[in-house]
Order: sequence, then C-alpha cells, then structure tokens
Amino acid sequence: MPNPRKIDLQYLKGVGPKRAELLRKELGVATFHDLMTYYPFRYIDRSTIHHVTDINDDMPYIQLRGRFVSFGTNGEGAKLRLNALFADETGTIEMVWFNRARQVARQLHTGREYIVFGKPTEYRGHYNIVHPEVEEYSPQSQAPSQGHGLVGVYSLTERLITAHVTQRVIQRMIATLMDTEAARSLPNIMPASLMASRRLLPRAQAVRAMHMPRDVAELQQAQFTMKYEELFLLELNILRYMSNRGRKVGGHIFSRVGEHFNTFYREVLPYDLTGAQKRVLREMRADMGSGRQMNRLLQGDVGSGKTVVAFMTALLAVDNGYQACVMAPTEILANQHLETMIPWAERLGLSVALLTGSTRQSERTAIHGRLMDGTLNILVGTHALIEDNVQWARLGLAVIDEQHRFGVAQRAKLWEKAAVPPHVLVMTATPIPRTLAMTVYGDLDVSVIDELPPGRKPVTTVTRTDDQRERVNRFIGSQLREGHQVYIVYPLIEENEKLDLLAVEKGYEMVCDTFPSYRVAMVHGRMKPAEKDHQMELFASGKAHILVATTVIEVGVNVPNASVMVIENAERFGLSQLHQLRGRVGRGADRSYCVLMTRHDLKGSTRHRLDVMTQTTDGFLIAEEDLKLRGPGDLEGTMQSGMALNLKVAKLAQDGQIVQLARDDAERWLNNDPNLTSTEGRRLDHELQLIFNKTHDWSQIS
Ligand code: ADP
Ligand code: MG
Repeated sequence: MPNPRKIDLQYLKGVGPKRAELLRKELGVATFHDLMTYYPFRYIDRSTIHHVTDINDDMPYIQLRGRFVSFGTNGEGAKLRLNALFADETGTIEMVWFNRARQVARQLHTGREYIVFGKPTEYRGHYNIVHPEVEEYSPQSQAPSQGHGLVGVYSLTERLITAHVTQRVIQRMIATLMDTEAARSLPNIMPASLMASRRLLPRAQAVRAMHMPRDVAELQQAQFTMKYEELFLLELNILRYMSNRGRKVGGHIFSRVGEHFNTFYREVLPYDLTGAQKRVLREMRADMGSGRQMNRLLQGDVGSGKTVVAFMTALLAVDNGYQACVMAPTEILANQHLETMIPWAERLGLSVALLTGSTRQSERTAIHGRLMDGTLNILVGTHALIEDNVQWARLGLAVIDEQHRFGVAQRAKLWEKAAVPPHVLVMTATPIPRTLAMTVYGDLDVSVIDELPPGRKPVTTVTRTDDQRERVNRFIGSQLREGHQVYIVYPLIEENEKLDLLAVEKGYEMVCDTFPSYRVAMVHGRMKPAEKDHQMELFASGKAHILVATTVIEVGVNVPNASVMVIENAERFGLSQLHQLRGRVGRGADRSYCVLMTRHDLKGSTRHRLDVMTQTTDGFLIAEEDLKLRGPGDLEGTMQSGMALNLKVAKLAQDGQIVQLARDDAERWLNNDPNLTSTEGRRLDHELQLIFNKTHDWSQIS
C-alpha cells in the first residue's frame, strides 16, 4: 500500500518539483501526508453567490459573479496599484491589487463574466476587495466541491499567491490528492472497538471530508473523528510516558515522618491546617514513600496556604536525611519565602539560606560549601539555584513556586547531575482547568487545595470608569484613614514599555498629589532589583501606605494589611491575571475591595471579562472562562520547549469534553494493553513513534 508519508509532493499530478519546493518552504508541506493533513482553517459555502448590494460588515469571504467595467492604475514601478470596478446586476464594488498589478491587468478583460472570491473590507465609506481571486465564469469551472457547497479555505502565504498558488489551485491539488490510491487506501489507526463506540469515520473518509465535506453533518463527524484521534494519541503518549517514568526512574524513599515534621506540626505551626492542606500533604507523603520520583502539581488559589505545605514537605525531606530547595520566580518572592521560613527553621534548629542573583560572591561560596557538606538543610532562591556550579550533597526535594515562570528545561537542570532525581513539587496559584491538567500538564499528578483558611471574606469587586475617579479616591482615602494599605496597579505591555513606564510614573505623581499625607512606594520592571526590593520592603513593612506598581507584584506578595487593589486599565489584563492581582488583598481579617478602572465604552468580550470578575471569586471558574476567551495561550507556551502539543485539529479551549473522553479511553486501553503489544496496540505504538518521536526527550523532565 502506498505510504503517503513517503511520497514526495512533486509526484502529485499538477505539482512538479518547483511548486513542491515552494510548498515545502512556505508551508512545510513536503509529502502526500503533509498535504493531506494541511486542513482548511475555514469553510465557505461556494454554492452561494452574493450580490454587491447585500455586502455588509460581518461578511467573511464571499463570492460575486459579474463583469469588470473599468480598470485604472495608480503609481508606478513596484508601487503600481490596480483598481478595477466590478459590477453585478445589483451594483458595483472596487477590487484592488497592490501586487502583480500589471499581470493582473493583462489577464482581466471587460465584458467577460467572472467569479470573484474575497473578503470585503470597508475603506472610506465604501466596500472594496483587496487581492480577490478571480476566475472566468463558466458553468463547468466551479470549485472542486461542485455539487456540494462547502469548500475549504487554506492558510496561504503572499509568496504562494504571487506564484499563482491560490486557494483555487490548492483546492484542486487536494482534490487530485484525494483521488490517489494513497488517500483512498489510508488505513485506520484507531482500534475497531473505539471506532464503533465513538462512532468515528474510517480514516480515509474522515480526511477527505475534512477537505471536501459532502455536507455540514459529514464535516462535523470528520472533525470529531480527527480531534478525537489526535487527543487519544496524545493522552496515550502522556499516560504511557508516566507509567514508563514510574518504572524506570527511581525515587528517594522518604519513609519516616520524623522529629522535625512532628515538632513543627505540634509546637510551631501557628494555626490548624485546613482539611485540604492535610489531604495534600498525605498525597505527597504517599508519593515520596513509594520509591518512585514524585512529580506533582499543587494547585491552590492565591492565599490558600501553599507555603506552609511546601515547608512541611521540605521537613519530610530533612527528616529522611535529604536537603530541599524552594525556587521562586522573583527575588522579592524568594525573600518573602525566606522570611516566612526563617523563624520556623530557627525553632526547629534547621538551617535555611537564600541564593539569588544578587547574593554576594563570598556568601555564595559559603553556601556552595554548606550545600556540599550537607550542613545546609533548605535553600531558597531564584534562577540562581540552577546555575551550573550549584551542587548538592543530597538534594531530595525541589519545590518550584509559581511554575509558569520556569521553563521545563530549567527544571531539568536542577537534577541533571543527580543519579536519582529529587522529588518535584510544582506549585501554582493559577488554577489549571481540567483540560490543561490532562494535556499540557498531563504528565504531572495533581493535588488541589480547594479550601481557603477560615475567616477569609471574598473580595468585593467593582468596575469604575475614569470619570468616577474622584469617588474612587475618596474611598481609598477612607481605607487609608482606617489604617489600611492600598495597591494601585498599572498594566505593562511589552511592546511599548516606555509608554507604560510613563503611565506608572504619572500615576505615581498623581497619587502623591492626591494623598499628600501618606507615603507612596513604587515598583516597576525597569528598576534595579535592589531598588525594587527596597520599595517593596517599604510597603510590606507598612512604612509606605500606597504601592503604585506594574504587574511585578502579580505573583505571591503577602501584605495582609492591604485592603484595596485598584487596577488601572483593567480591560488590558487577562482574567487570570486580574484574579492573581485581586488575590493580593483579602488576606487579613478585614473586608477588602478590588476596583477595576476602565474606559467607559467597553465592548462585548471585554465587558464580559470584567463582569466575570465582579460576579465570582472562584479561581477555577475564572480560569475556565479565561481559557474559553483567550485560549490556552501562555500556559500552552510554557511547555513548548519540553512537550510540544502541536495540535492540528483539536482546540483545548473548546474541546474539553473530547479531551476527557480521549483520556478515559486511553487509560482504559492501557489497562488492557499496557505495552501496546496487541495487534491494534502495535499500530497505535507505531503512530506514536511517528508523531512524538521527533520531539525532545522529556523523560528526565518533571
Ligand atoms: P499562597 O497559597 O497564595 O502561597 P500563602 O502560603 O502565602 O498562600 O498563605 C496565605 C496566608 O494564609 C498566609 O498569611 C498564611 O500564614 C496563612 N495561612 C496558611 N494556611 C493557613 C491556615 N491553615 N490557617 C490560617 N491561616 C493560614
Ligand atoms: Mg505563594
């Protein structure tokens, strides 16, 4: 049977070496298989011909049928532009070419009938179509889908179009491809039982229908088939990887719950642990006693008390004769962890040190020495922890706080020298929707702290527009008079750091003018770390009453006396980010407030985003909404270096239910066929090799 992965595209009728080379360069499409899986990003109904007078704002690509009535050129040389007036029986519309104007002008004629295809856009009160595709009309020259209206639209590059590889050309290529033996005889990958239970289309039919569906129903079934297959293979790969890792990589065995842990629990801990904190600790103890390496993701909303859990996990390591490290994404946070832990460690007679980029060389050397001779129990720090010359006598546990700032590769560096890797606890306050937990983070076991310490009151959240600023200021004033502290946060958008800096600095001046009797601190990303720390310290210690900041404070700062969080230009923040910021207040016993400052003319999705914030404080709900609104974005990006998902058809934001089905089915499959040795299992295994073998080997990465 011809294997489409092995057939070069140049051998497809009508392609040839030159076009094949171009397609490879421009789209990365080199083989029959590549083209087969180069799916349309959209479908248009080519059975419909629109009328010029019906054109309106929200039309995507449309077809018109009519004649050109006049041609005009503007400019010269490379800047030559062609404007053509096109008419159907209802009206006229302008077509514009900025490229290839001369060639196009030569090819088109007044008087002949054409089909034009393109996206109308409004320009100075009129609609026009830039770079439409034009084809002489004849009843036979319709799209390859003739007889059924839906035609795929492919993402192409300007260079392809210039080289006459247009939508129409790609569509024809695909039609030719679909008629080849290679496409017709495409074997099924999915096991027969799943094809039946999930009602999947045979693969050959599904692939064909992705490009040239008979109707909407067939397209939907094909899309489900391809998404399910893609996600099933992904889950199979993740689950098999997890079980292999479990078998291959051993782990330090922490069998004892020892003296330090118990003393801390009984005598030092200033409060009772919440039920969720206890449960999470139990889950981790089970992992770390099992002889396998722990790879656990601990999710807990802001303020849910992850720090103490991290510390107690470190105590388990120490009680079993190991060292532990806690990594934070910023110096401020590392400092805060250190300050939390020092008094605890002192009462237990343990040693803690801090290692960051600004640790002095002499200190650094001393720390290296104490790590090597084992006298240092717990090391807190930033990226500096994973610098090459940091070596450990017995690193048993690595806690990584707020993991989204740490790349996978960086995590791997922590233990690349260790014969037995340390247990890894990744902590995040960004609630991770189930869909992502099963995919992007699919190889980590998940623990959740789903309970806040008692006595917390939800933060009252309101939106206010800029013209209500005086009222907001009066409110801030009243909170300050009650002895509370206030955050005022400005957005930081990297493309225009200068402007943003200006906004913060102006905001700072404004705040100083408005509240002359209070001390105002300021932090932003452009400051030197030492200055930043100093300003943060002013606020944390209560010497400063107001903190004006860019989003550097987003992660983890703990100032229980702060009761107001004002977020300027709130519409520029993502939901999860707003949630993180809001989590900075409401940490003490008093009622807290979050004020979202916005422009007054907010539109649809922006409005909706801010409404979500005022309506709920549930981090998981907010994360789900965020995923729906924005897609997995950052989260997916985090893992790119290690575990590329490269989903072609499935969309994590929308296909949560299919992810769940696929995960359940993959789990069940592996229960019966753990090594993929059955006939169908071997076929799956082969497919996994083809898909995932190219990517980085992440077997040593948490
Ligand atoms: P996060 O999960 O955001 O890192 P922290 O660990 O900073 O949260 O904890 C937030 C605050 O809650 C801290 O002031 C901490 O002392 C307090 N805290 C943690 N656990 C409890 C508990 N079980 N009971 C009361 N307060 C707690
Ligand atoms: Mg924290």
